Amino acid sequence: MAGRGVKLEQDKKEILKRGIHELPAPESFAVPSRFPPVKGEPDPKRILRAAEAAGIRSETDGVPLRDLLRSLAEQKTTLLAARCFDDDPFAAGEQAVLRESPEKVADGLALAAQACGAEETLIAAASRAEVRLLSARKIPAAAVAAGNRSPADFFLLQSLRRSGKNAALLGAQACAALSDAVREGKPAVEAVVTVAGNAVSKPGNYRVRIGMPLSLLLEFCGADRRAQFVSVGTALGGHSVLNLNMPVGFSTRCITVLKKPPLRREFACVRCGRCTTACPVGVVPWLVHRELESGPPEPLLLFHVGECIGCRACSAVCPSGIDLAGEVRRAALTKEGGRSV
Ligand code: SF4
Ligand code: SF4
Repeated sequence: MAGRGVKLEQDKKEILKRGIHELPAPESFAVPSRFPPVKGEPDPKRILRAAEAAGIRSETDGVPLRDLLRSLAEQKTTLLAARCFDDDPFAAGEQAVLRESPEKVADGLALAAQACGAEETLIAAASRAEVRLLSARKIPAAAVAAGNRSPADFFLLQSLRRSGKNAALLGAQACAALSDAVREGKPAVEAVVTVAGNAVSKPGNYRVRIGMPLSLLLEFCGADRRAQFVSVGTALGGHSVLNLNMPVGFSTRCITVLKKPPLRREFACVRCGRCTTACPVGVVPWLVHRELESGPPEPLLLFHVGECIGCRACSAVCPSGIDLAGEVRRAALTKEGGRSV
C-alpha cells in the first residue's frame, strides 16, 4: 500500500535569490591545507582516495563519502542521483548549491558514479523550474523534478526502483566537494546551512566552516538573543538545541530560530484518517495510537510499523498534534520484542 506523504509549502524564491553567503572562519581555526589533485584520468581507486583525503562526509547522515561509495558498489547500484532538493519548508541549501555550481555538482556526481560502478546518473532537482534552469545553463546531465511531497527522496527512489533501477541518492554538497577534491585537491571543511525563522534578521544560505559554534553563526545572521527556540535539522525532523556552543557539522543543513517555541498541544484523535493517507509505507498511525493508549498493544494490529522510515509525515498532518511518528517508533520496538512501550 502506498500513501501520498505530505505537501510542503516551499516558496524559497527569496532565500534562493540571495545565493550562498560566505562566512569567514573563526581566527583560531587552522587554514586547511590542500593535497595533490588526481592527475590524468580519474579511476575508482583514485576517486575514493581523494574523497578520503578531503574528508568528505554525506550531508544527509554524516557518513564518510568513501565508505558510502564502497557500500553502494557492494549493493551494485546502477543509478546514482544527486539529491539537489530540500525536503523541508525552510531549508534551501541543496538547491542553492545546485544553482551556484551545477557544473561542479554534475562533475562530482559523474565521479561518484564511476567510483561506485553506477552506469547512470540523474540530477534530482526541487522542481520543474529548477530543471529548466539547468537546461538553460546547458548542463549535460539528465535531470528530473523530485516534487514537493515529503518524503520526496523516498518517493523518488520508489519510482526509480519501480522502473527496474537499483537507485541511490547522494547529496549535492557531497557531489560538489568530490569534484573539488579530485580536480583541485581541496579539503571538505565547509557546510552550506540555511538559517531561517522569525527571530533572524538576515535569513539565508551560509557557507560555514565545520566546527564553528552555532552561537557565532547565529550572530552573523542577526538572530535575536531573546529567541526562545532554536532547532537544528529539518522542520519535520529537527530537534531543539539548548547549548549554542554546539558545532556546525557536515549534516547541519538547517537551523530555525523562533521568537517563541511552537505550541505543542495534543488533542484526542478525531479519526480523520489523514495520517493513514500520508504514510508512504502503509502504517495506520491512528490505530497504533489507539493501541498504545488502551494498554499493552496487540502486536497483530501494529501493521507495518517495522517498515516506518521516520519521515514524520503522519505527525505533520495530524490536526490533533499527536506525535504519531514517535508512537510508531515505540510500537516498532515493542513489536520487535526488545523494549516496553
Ligand atoms: S513516520 Fe513512519 S508511520 Fe509516520 S508517515 Fe512516516 S513512515 Fe509512516
Ligand atoms: S491524523 Fe491525527 S486525528 Fe486524524 S486519524 Fe490520524 S491520529 Fe487521528
